[in-house]
Amino acid sequence: MTTVETTEQVTRDTTQDGDHEKFAHVVVPASAVTEAYITGTPVTALCGKTWVPNRDPNRYQVCPTCQEILDAARSA
Ligand SMILES: [Zn+2]
Repeated sequence: MTTVETTEQVTRDTTQDGDHEKFAHVVVPASAVTEAYITGTPVTALCGKTWVPNRDPNRYQVCPTCQEILDAARSA
């Protein structure tokens, strides 16, 4: 039953508190986040994370993947 075990593992990984709860992701333009707060629509961060913003992300550490993409874009 290798297939079942694999499925359970994936499900467990995706149902734990998402990394979007621990990191502040970078969304361009930043105004899209403000709009998403109001409209309740999901936004997609530079790292590909899609979520509905519902809290101030500034108290979280910036997502390393987003930061990496941002740095690369700035130096380009
Ligand atoms: Zn991110």
